Amino acid sequence: LGKKTLDAVSYIEENDIKFIRMQFCDIYGQSKNIAISNEQIERAILYGVPFDANSVAGCLDADHSDLILHPDLSTLQILPWRPQQGKVARILCDVKYPDGTNFEGDSRYILKEQMKKAEKLGYRFNVGAECEFFLFRLGENGEPTREPVDDAGYFDLAPFDRGENTRREIILTLEEMGFEIESSHHESARGQHEIDFKYSGALESADNIMTFKTVVKTIAQRNGLHATFMPKPLNGQPGSGMHINMSLMRDGENIFTSDFGGLTDEARWFAAGVLGHIRGISALSNPLVNSYKRLMDGYEAPQTVSWGYGSRSPLIRIPAAVGDYCRMELRSPDPACNPYLTFALVLAAGLEGIEKKLPLMDPLGEAPAALQKLPMTLREALGEMEKDTLVTEVLGEKTAQKYIQLKSWEWRQYIGMVHEWEIDRYFSTF
Ligand code: GLN
Ligand code: MG
Ligand code: MG
Ligand code: MG
Repeated sequence: LGKKTLDAVSYIEENDIKFIRMQFCDIYGQSKNIAISNEQIERAILYGVPFDANSVAGCLDADHSDLILHPDLSTLQILPWRPQQGKVARILCDVKYPDGTNFEGDSRYILKEQMKKAEKLGYRFNVGAECEFFLFRLGENGEPTREPVDDAGYFDLAPFDRGENTRREIILTLEEMGFEIESSHHESARGQHEIDFKYSGALESADNIMTFKTVVKTIAQRNGLHATFMPKPLNGQPGSGMHINMSLMRDGENIFTSDFGGLTDEARWFAAGVLGHIRGISALSNPLVNSYKRLMDGYEAPQTVSWGYGSRSPLIRIPAAVGDYCRMELRSPDPACNPYLTFALVLAAGLEGIEKKLPLMDPLGEAPAALQKLPMTLREALGEMEKDTLVTEVLGEKTAQKYIQLKSWEWRQYIGMVHEWEIDRYFSTF
C-alpha cells in the first residue's frame, strides 16, 4: 500500500469514520454517491468501487454498464453535520472504465484535461465563484413552499434578514470543512443570499462548489428551510447567478494584472476568446429551461455579449482590484450549472483567444450598441452549442451528443406543457 493510502486509512481509523461516501458529479452537475463502510476502504482505493452507470442519468453508455469510482484521496472530508460517533466522510472520485481508462463523460476528467493543456502552455487557471441562492420556508409536512424566508433586500440586516442564523451556520460548517469564507450578505431578492469563498485552482474550485451546494441545502433543511439554486424561482424578482472570477497565473504571477489598472494583452485575448464562444457555452453554463428567464429579465444579469468596467450589465466585468486580486468576472453562469464542464469550456475558449491573439471588442459605453445577444432559450443555446466545434472538442463528441439529446428532451417536455401564463392570458379571452 502506498503512503497516501496508508495516510487515508489511518485517518479514517483515528477519526472514528464509519461510512465513506464515494461521490462523483453527473453530467447535469448533480452530486451522486455510494456509501461504503470503513472496512472496505483499502479495497476501494486499490480496485475502485463499481456502479451501474446505466442507472445514472448522463452516464448512460450502452456498451459499458459498469463504471468504476476511484477515490481522489486528497478530497477526503468528514461531513460535520453527521453523527460525531461513527462519523461519515466523503471522497470525490474519478470515474473510469473497468480497464482503467478514464470515462470520457466524467466531469472532473474533462476539466483536468483542459487544465493539463493550460499547464503545458505555462498557465494555471484560478477561479473564484459567487454562488447566490434562495431560502424558502417549509410547509407543515416539511415540503418546500413558495414563500421566501424573508422580505429583506440587498445588504439588509436582521431582523429583516431572517436567513441570518442559517447563513451563519452554513458558514461555520464550511469553515469546519476547510473553506476560507470571504464574505456573505443578503442579496437583492426576497429570501436571496450569497456566500463567497476564496478562489483556488479551477479543479479545487469546482469541487468546492459541489461541497458548498450540499452544505447549503443540508444546513437549510436542518433549520426548517428549503435552499434552492434554481436560477429564477420568483417572477418579478432577480434570479441567482454564479459569477465566476477568473485569473491566469504564469510562474506564480497573475498575468491579468497591469500597472495601470487596465488589461494586459493576454487578458484581452482571453476575454475575446470567452466572448467568442459564450453563446456555444451557454447550454452548459446556463443548463435549464429556467436559466434563460434569469438572463431575459435584466436584474443585473447579462443579456448581451459584451464587457466593461463599471456597470453590472456586461457579460464580462473587470472589477476594480489590484495585484493578485485582478481578475475578470464572467456574469452569465448560474448555480445550476456543472462547474467542472463550465470551467473547462471557459478555460478552453480563453486559451484559444490567447493562442490566436484574438482582438477584443470595445468595452460597453464606448461602442454603439450593436451587440450580439446571449441565447434567449435553452433550445437556442443547444443550437449554438451544436455549431461550436470548440465545445464539442472539449466535451468529446460522444458526451456532447448525449448532452444535447438529454437537454433537447427536457426542452420538448417543457414546450409541450400548458403554462400558467397561457391560462391567465387566453382562458377567458378566447
Ligand atoms: N443576481 C444577479 C444575477 O443574476 C447578480 C446580482 C449581483 O451580484 N450584483 O446575476
Ligand atoms: Mg457578489
Ligand atoms: Mg451577488
Ligand atoms: Mg459578482
